[in-house]
Amino acid sequence: MIVMKFGGTSVGNAERYREVARLLGTYLDQQPIAVVSAMAGTTDWLLNTARALADGGRNPGGTSHNAEKCVADFHTRNFDVIAATIHNPEIRKQVETVVEGQLQLLLRLLTGVELLGELSPRSLDAVAAFGEKISVQLLAGALQDLGFKAQPISAEELILTDRTFQAARPQMEVTTNRCRSRLVPMVEDGIIPVVTGFIGATDDGITTTLGRDGTDFSASIIGASLDADEIWIWKEVDGVMTADPRLVPNARSLRRISYAEAGELTHFGAKVIHPLTVMPAIEKGIPIFIKNTFNPSFPGTRIDHGHEATDGVVKAVTSARNLALITILGGGVLSVPGIAARTFAKMAALNVNVFMISHASSGHDLCLVVEKKVIPQVIPALRKEFERELELKEIDAIEADPQIVTIAVVGAGMRGAPGVAGRLFSALGRKSINIMVIAQGSSELNISLIVSADDEQEALMTIHEEFLSLTGLGKTLSRSMKQASALS
Ligand code: ADP
Ligand code: ASP
Ligand code: MG
Repeated sequence: MIVMKFGGTSVGNAERYREVARLLGTYLDQQPIAVVSAMAGTTDWLLNTARALADGGRNPGGTSHNAEKCVADFHTRNFDVIAATIHNPEIRKQVETVVEGQLQLLLRLLTGVELLGELSPRSLDAVAAFGEKISVQLLAGALQDLGFKAQPISAEELILTDRTFQAARPQMEVTTNRCRSRLVPMVEDGIIPVVTGFIGATDDGITTTLGRDGTDFSASIIGASLDADEIWIWKEVDGVMTADPRLVPNARSLRRISYAEAGELTHFGAKVIHPLTVMPAIEKGIPIFIKNTFNPSFPGTRIDHGHEATDGVVKAVTSARNLALITILGGGVLSVPGIAARTFAKMAALNVNVFMISHASSGHDLCLVVEKKVIPQVIPALRKEFERELELKEIDAIEADPQIVTIAVVGAGMRGAPGVAGRLFSALGRKSINIMVIAQGSSELNISLIVSADDEQEALMTIHEEFLSLTGLGKTLSRSMKQASALS
């Protein structure tokens, strides 16, 4: 069995649904299970519409909304795609009937949101789930239209989650039992199950979502539950690349990386897969492949326990824009014991995740990197905590800088390899890029640094050129040869 995930971009329109159905059909012998996202743009549309309706129908464009009009537009768009995707009238009618029912439910939900002017995380999940629920109808319909046996399934029936709406976590034991009893008989019957990505449900049947871009994670949860042979994540790129190809045009695709390297890369912002995707697969040792729907014969990237030995020590470089830098500045930061301890206690009390910390022994400041969105909560809380120190001028200021990016340089080969940080600084220094904070993870799988948001692309290109372009790799190779000959 192979679990195959198709993201929103892979199913962006009717032609793409048919293309994905043809592709799945070619793997029938390998017993594929499809896990599919909403059509590109749908989840954003659903969430934005619900928010605009809750907000009295106002939206940034100033046009007025009402639930009925919104759902009518959505109906037209979806029915156009159904008509273009499914040619057989009987199959099309079946899919239309199901989708019609789904849209009526969506209308009732959105009308509630509009009338109450209130939108809880739970309601957002219920609304967002419709994108995937409609998508499985389309893909299963496209498969049937091509003559394959296919069954649309909502993961509400399969993935049991906790009640953390918008970031629900699976309970694997029940999920495993459900996946096995529901999906295995179908697969053995030659049916291709088409399962919704992104969603699950609580033990009392309330819809949850695993968080944005969660379909990769869904595929891994289902793959691990079924003890699948492999998990394939189909994208529009040739696998995991040495950098985001949109920012570094000469990024190359990697043939093999470890679960840990993939975890580091995605944790530090590589948008290629959801950061939790590797977790369910690790325990069972199921390899994950990232493959390109536009280039299916290309092997893509294999993610497993091992890692490809490369000539260089660095595998990839990535950046994240969702973080901000908090600085606690002043002579007292050094002299007053416990400032750091109190800062971290406050962060823990606020349930705020600290991504990086730096406190140079010579400097008078303590820097923390947190998500941008928590700044309005964290800064006043810290100023209150250190009210006395601020009055006594032991602390001069507590400030947040949201105009930063985190750059992470990742590779298992950096473990114990001397000189990587030095080379990194020199390369950035030559381009006059100021490094605001630097940290090395204890795993030594990554070095992360903070630079101004204005320097993001130049920093990525510079690091890529130094370590990952073919000339960069050449430099690394000649250094290690020199080191080797000096030793011998
Ligand atoms: P899907 O809709 O299939 O989930 P996404 O658009 O969410 O696909 O994710 C794939 C995108 O991630 C690619 O198009 C690419 O631009 C981006 N990306 C960022 N970093 C990397 C990387 N290191 N390797 C490959 N792709 C990356
Ligand atoms: N459709 C969801 C989203 O847009 C999940 C996914 O695409 O993985 O976030
Ligand atoms: Mg995605």
